[in-house]
Amino acid sequence: MPPFPTAARQALADTQLRHNLAHATGTIRAKRAKVVGEVEHWEDLRLAGAAVKARALADLETNLVRLEESLTAQGATVHWARDAAEACEVVARVARSHDVDEVVKVKSMATQEIELNEALQAQGIAAWETDLAELIVQLGDDLPSHILVPAIHRNRAEIREIFRSKMAGSGRPAPDDLTDEPAVLAGAARQHLREKFLRAKVAVSGANFAVAETGTLVVVESEGNGRMCLTLPEVLVSVVGIEKVVPTFAELDPLLRLLPRSSTGERMNPYTSMWTGVTPGDGPQEVHVVLVDNGRTRALADEVGRQALRCIRCSACLNVCPVYERTGGHAYGSVYPGPIGAILNPLMRGQGDPQVDSLPYASSLCGACFEVCPVRIDIPEVLVHLRSKVVDAHRDDRVPKAEAVAMKSTAWAFTDAKRLAAGERLSGLAGRVLTRVGKARLPGGRATAGRLPGPGAAWTGARDMPAPPRESFRAWWRRTDGGRSEGSGQSEQKGGE
Ligand code: SF4
Repeated sequence: MPPFPTAARQALADTQLRHNLAHATGTIRAKRAKVVGEVEHWEDLRLAGAAVKARALADLETNLVRLEESLTAQGATVHWARDAAEACEVVARVARSHDVDEVVKVKSMATQEIELNEALQAQGIAAWETDLAELIVQLGDDLPSHILVPAIHRNRAEIREIFRSKMAGSGRPAPDDLTDEPAVLAGAARQHLREKFLRAKVAVSGANFAVAETGTLVVVESEGNGRMCLTLPEVLVSVVGIEKVVPTFAELDPLLRLLPRSSTGERMNPYTSMWTGVTPGDGPQEVHVVLVDNGRTRALADEVGRQALRCIRCSACLNVCPVYERTGGHAYGSVYPGPIGAILNPLMRGQGDPQVDSLPYASSLCGACFEVCPVRIDIPEVLVHLRSKVVDAHRDDRVPKAEAVAMKSTAWAFTDAKRLAAGERLSGLAGRVLTRVGKARLPGGRATAGRLPGPGAAWTGARDMPAPPRESFRAWWRRTDGGRSEGSGQSEQKGGE
């Protein structure tokens, strides 16, 4: 995957994509704002949600051990996975032990993160997504581009075309009279998926929360496909990131109130499924829980960044982000796109990969993401922190970046008064020349350097570069004794203020 600026350029050129995104994020934004506005003490609720997650993370080891004990006591089998490969192998082993060549899945970020579908496919096991948007993405050989609405970049006409051309290849074909009416498209998906639900012996899920006290896993969803996956098959394998643990059942309360309003803009989500181990004669009779690290303890070790593990994957930060709205999710090169992806990926994977290193810069730092985050993750603070880590990681590069050279030269000039004065004189001279001969002007009449050649072109391609002032502050101070001898010019300026 190329670094964000390269990938984003391609996305920005796709006007259909930008139209689809602007429409979808605008709609969800408005819905969220309306239902959040109805809650009188929303800020208190945010603080409560953040505190629950912070408490769970502060004592993660104890909570996880307790979760394992509770799950085991309730008849579930717990597996620990250090990385994606270990997690995928556990799921494949369970599927193989039941001699199946397919599993059904309820939408799960963790399984996308570990690339479970691809790993199972390599072992001859088909993993069928049952969430409508995930089905669209899977049939279209596409990648999700939003946490909550994975097919946000597709419109109705595109979805109809995907169903018509691809459904037959993986089961029941789309009906001949398929139109692009939402209800007709949903009906075709329902028929297609029902066959798979009724046939599958093994299901794979994630979990929004895992309660240490009781060993209860929670899945929140809107379509009912999750409920089908969690109840119909004989075997259930849940792949859960270790940060999903919540100490007690009572602490689910603020989180389950924050999540639907922040994500889909609903007062309550349509389906909240909770299951606690195995119940004889009811639901899956074999339950496996895979607790996955895959970089989470690395993120936890970062004192500033660990707050990102509070994320409840509501996607509110994506829907308000001006950068995400224009580029969509693919440009982030990860299942976690948008502001949360820009911090979570570097925290979990560390510095050194140019693509990951580019993500903390994929932000205008406007702060809108922090404003809407239901668990108060200060994303701008973490972005700035991660930018500093990227800079630190590249300090010893054999070929330094142009920015690093510029910073070093500036430091060289600023640490010596004579050098600084010489630099000011040079810049003043450049300012005078530009003002006299330059043709480009900013609104208000100030001269501008226009388009710079070479590496400077990337800078001036998107910004104005005003001509340097003809006189530096220090020169002005010397000339006017700090404004005391400037006379009428100074009083005019004060009057203007
Ligand atoms: S960072 Fe906050 S706003 Fe963004 S997805 Fe996570 S919980 Fe939601």
